[in-house]
Amino acid sequence: MNAEIISVGTELLMGQILNTNTRYLSGRMADFGINMYYHVTVGDNPTRLKQCIANAFSRSDIVLFTGGLGPTEDDLTKETVADYFGLELVVNEKYKAWLLEKMSSRGYPCTPNNIKQVMFPADHCIILPNPRGTAPGCIMEKNGKTAILMPGPPWEMEPMFEEEVVPYLQKRSNCMFHSRTIRIFGKGESQVEYAIKDIVDAQSNPTIAPYAKAAETTLRITARCGSEEEGEKLIQPVIQAIEDRVGEFIYSTHGREMHEVCAELLKASGLKIAVAESCTGGMIASRLISVPGSSEWFMEGAVTYSCDSKMRRLGVKAETLEKYTDVSAETAKEMADGIRLQSGADIGISTTGYAGPTGAPGLIGQVFIAVSTEEGCNAYEVNLKGNRERVRDGAVLNALNLLRKQIIAKNRCNLDINVL
Ligand code: AMP
Ligand code: MG
Repeated sequence: MNAEIISVGTELLMGQILNTNTRYLSGRMADFGINMYYHVTVGDNPTRLKQCIANAFSRSDIVLFTGGLGPTEDDLTKETVADYFGLELVVNEKYKAWLLEKMSSRGYPCTPNNIKQVMFPADHCIILPNPRGTAPGCIMEKNGKTAILMPGPPWEMEPMFEEEVVPYLQKRSNCMFHSRTIRIFGKGESQVEYAIKDIVDAQSNPTIAPYAKAAETTLRITARCGSEEEGEKLIQPVIQAIEDRVGEFIYSTHGREMHEVCAELLKASGLKIAVAESCTGGMIASRLISVPGSSEWFMEGAVTYSCDSKMRRLGVKAETLEKYTDVSAETAKEMADGIRLQSGADIGISTTGYAGPTGAPGLIGQVFIAVSTEEGCNAYEVNLKGNRERVRDGAVLNALNLLRKQIIAKNRCNLDINVL
């Protein structure tokens, strides 16, 4: 089966919105063993959309659409696809009642243009409920061609895909797919690929798909299977084989992100953390606090950007700054010690570095990270490449990775890190 995505929305063409729907759907379709051959983006223009639909169905069996299902006049995806299939749209009374109820419970009047959201072809159509919005999606099937229409907002589209489209695709392909994601830090994509090449080549079920994501490498292992348990049985030995090769760089075998892993470890260990950030400007704190329940283990974060603030808030010594400068292992250590002692946390983490692009020629990307505990304080130097954003992102990941290692080292015996 070949698939293609048509993203509908003038805002996408104008560069106002990043097309995250296409990235999401492409990744998920690959999990189902469906070939994705084309991505098309088109504005809210029925003539051009119609051309795209005809092109798409001349070469693809399944076309996924996102956007253009709303109530406004420029939302024309459903109308244009129905027209292509020669299907007429009629009001679906069940969904009309649902929409009226939803609008009135939100306190909005249901103006006539809203009704077009609940108009669907009477035949050749499966309606996809949308509990998070007002525009249901739908699947139109005719002459061996399938159009899957979903709303534009990712927070509506992604759950609709998972809850409605995935079961549909599984039923169609007569089997299910189970996947696990391994996340690797500190070893580049090509190195990882090289290290596990024979494992990848030897596999047909499950398959292993590597991809790189800012400073990280991800391996998605997908099994075609009859049940989740069977899938897990197929995947387990492959994960084991990969762990044997690059285990020391793996931080999650369940697709968790670095900050989520740190959060789980902090929770399981009972350790409390505080952070003092310079070049990362609060990003470490923000990442950790994004995890629900972080109040249990996150004590405080300080953005101490100036030398004065490093001295006043964290007790960094003037002599240290003078002798070694603010971007140094010594300053990082005093920052981490300072935040730990002042907050009463078990672990203090700090960052200080040159994020660039101005200042400190030749030193851009140099970042010092320190980890302070009762037993002592260690500083680490990392040299990151790329623009300001990449250097700062890289510093955050490195700091979180050091935090992760610190907790594991301290609790080697009594933490079940396999669940991560
Ligand atoms: P629509 O369903 O066309 O009314 O889309 C509503 C909103 O969804 C847009 O204004 C965007 O914010 C968002 N959106 C639409 N298409 C995409 C896409 N391909 N990726 C990410 N967001 C999108
Ligand atoms: Mg739109």
